[in-house]
Amino acid sequence: MDNMEFESILLPGVDAKRPIVIAGPCSAETEEQVLTTAKQLSDKGIKVFRAGIWKPRTRPGSFEGVGSEGLPWLQKVKAQYGMYTTTEVATAKHVAEAIKYDIDILWIGARTSANPFAMQEIADALVGTDKIILIKNPVNPDLDLWIGSIERIYGAGIRKIGVIHRGFSSADQKIYRNLPQWHIPIELRRRYPTLPMFCDPSHIGGKRELVAPISQQAMDLNFDGLMIESHCDPDNAWSDKNQQITPDVLDYIINLLVIRDSKQSTENLSELRRQIDEMDDQLLEVLAKRMRISREIGLYKKEHNIQILQTARYNEILEDRIKQAIKFGIDGDCMQKILELIHEESIRQQMNVMNE
Ligand code: PEP
Ligand code: MN
Repeated sequence: MDNMEFESILLPGVDAKRPIVIAGPCSAETEEQVLTTAKQLSDKGIKVFRAGIWKPRTRPGSFEGVGSEGLPWLQKVKAQYGMYTTTEVATAKHVAEAIKYDIDILWIGARTSANPFAMQEIADALVGTDKIILIKNPVNPDLDLWIGSIERIYGAGIRKIGVIHRGFSSADQKIYRNLPQWHIPIELRRRYPTLPMFCDPSHIGGKRELVAPISQQAMDLNFDGLMIESHCDPDNAWSDKNQQITPDVLDYIINLLVIRDSKQSTENLSELRRQIDEMDDQLLEVLAKRMRISREIGLYKKEHNIQILQTARYNEILEDRIKQAIKFGIDGDCMQKILELIHEESIRQQMNVMNE
């Protein structure tokens, strides 16, 4: 389905001005927590309230959401503060319940969008409805899987579709809880320019202090909106407490965002610099992966008593990569130097393994 066309997801009264903000707690915990948070957000001008009713938790035994009992609380948020509501659905039963309680926007979580069976079940349950559906990226960095999920919902006749970039699982959680891998949503936008895109800096960063910089990056990359976890008492939240911020802090962050004109920013130097930063991040990631593989080779050689330096293989690599580099317009000598340095570091890493 290369020619999907989407309809506007803007609800009456929600400003199209970037960023469109969806905010609210990770989970609905109690009626009081929901209403207090909603009131504080509404006072700051937030129009769309999120709260997880059914929570997909990595391990059983942690708080799995209050379930349907929380749906009337969201109805109260609508009635008392005139906000729109959104919650996560993962099964046909969730869809039916959410519709019964007038939830305006349904979002599909990252674990669900990675599962075609679950996606089809949800799509089937949506046939004949006119809901706005936001689809988070699947946990694994697979653009086709994400597009597949969008296609299933589109196939159910739904046209008011948006996506939420929430980062991708990785064993490497040094900075981010979920790696942004911005090139994936950027490619999605290139293929479907009319598809509204949100960024969820809370789940990408996993930490309060990363919400602001990731939100700014998303704005600089021309995202339409942000979904941010906000709780009236983040320290005592029942889930994801490290990444939730108070409505006050949320308001402060939103007001500090620099929103650049999208036409200007493509030509603008700082935009290009950001792209370079992103490329360097990717280069580093690939380089780190390559070194990990070198260490595995080192281990294999150690176990099989093979010497580290294999000159024929090294020459082959040099010749082949330099030829390729020249084809891409990169100077051969420059490429040779880069390869020599990489090779040197690979050998050093293999020696470390040998000496362990
Ligand atoms: C959430 O939004 O609270 C959530 C569980 O998100 P994700 O599906 O991105 O992990
Ligand atoms: Mn959460």
